[in-house]
Amino acid sequence: MVKKIVALGGDGIGPEVVDAAVQVLESMGLDIEIQKPLCGEVAIKRFGTPFPKEAMELTNESDAILFGATEQASVFILAYLRWGLDTYANLRPIKYYEGVPTPIKDPEGIDFLIVRENSEGLYPGREGDLSLLAEKLPDYRDRLGKSFADYGPGKFAIRVFTNKGCQRIAKFACEKARERKAKGFPGKVTCVTKSNVLRESCGLFQKTCEEVIKNYPELKYEHFYVDDMARRIIRFPKDMDVIVTSNMFGDILSDLAAELMGGLGMAPSACIGDKYAYFEPVHGSAPDIAGKGIANPTASILSSVLMLDYLGMKDKAEELENAVKAVYKEGKVLTPDMGGKAKTTDFTRAVIEKLK
Ligand code: ATP
Repeated sequence: MVKKIVALGGDGIGPEVVDAAVQVLESMGLDIEIQKPLCGEVAIKRFGTPFPKEAMELTNESDAILFGATEQASVFILAYLRWGLDTYANLRPIKYYEGVPTPIKDPEGIDFLIVRENSEGLYPGREGDLSLLAEKLPDYRDRLGKSFADYGPGKFAIRVFTNKGCQRIAKFACEKARERKAKGFPGKVTCVTKSNVLRESCGLFQKTCEEVIKNYPELKYEHFYVDDMARRIIRFPKDMDVIVTSNMFGDILSDLAAELMGGLGMAPSACIGDKYAYFEPVHGSAPDIAGKGIANPTASILSSVLMLDYLGMKDKAEELENAVKAVYKEGKVLTPDMGGKAKTTDFTRAVIEKLK
């Protein structure tokens, strides 16, 4: 059956890198149909909304979504994909490809997966004036015995972890570690929190991971605090297999880890829920290079690899990943972020050539 894909470029370099991925996918003659509805800044200008009805309907009917990036004005699209479609598991593979410039001395063999909880924590943005908390929770005291009123004027942000949210992401990470183990990886889950300070919220996350891992006796388990983990990712990147962590920690650690594989231009991601999934580069809209035709489309193309894998087209996913690998191994077509002079279109063409 033909799979329905919707491509939502969004803003900045989003449309440039998503177009590149779409061209590559279309060159492969797959059983997929790709729709490209208007969205983002262009849709705001034309329809007064970043996510017009047509784009939303196509998204709701899709088997998978290829997404670019959004600026603040279009952030509703991202909120819809993430919270509206409940795509709670953000997978960010960190994998080094031969020939890619990286600041690491011996990057060959770096291959691990960050599983970031995508729906809870701080990012739903429950913020406001401290005076509101002082009024609603007059008896609440922090660890120092202070009430919200004691702080004076200021703002708050609330970080929420639910039992369900912790359980489903822990299970997702364990399933991924199991899948990877079957392919020859160590079969290890590393849980990352700051439970020594955030004893309730991070404590729940850690405790839940420790409970869930008991159902996977074939897997190894370890836990590190997030500050220690930032250091370990750089120092011992080849010790990692599957890292599971909460929303903001995962966001930060994955940008850091992306440098191991050559930077943001390289790093793909998948956001998966029970019914929907969208695939996007780890990078944002990169307004500093938007419209110049020099964005590196690798992260978007590798996100398509994750999408093909999700859709069950494993051989095709491997074929596409191998084409990207071959371009870097040859090292002739590199975009400026990789130290070359190639345009987005040159890189895209080079990948398509390798697929022939
Ligand atoms: P967001 O907050 O939306 O994640 P950001 O502000 O963190 O975005 P990015 O848009 O990801 O930042 O860009 C960070 C830097 O990386 C910028 O200098 C940008 O030019 C560069 N960059 C990001 N993506 C690419 C890419 N695909 N090709 C080349 N350079 C990139």
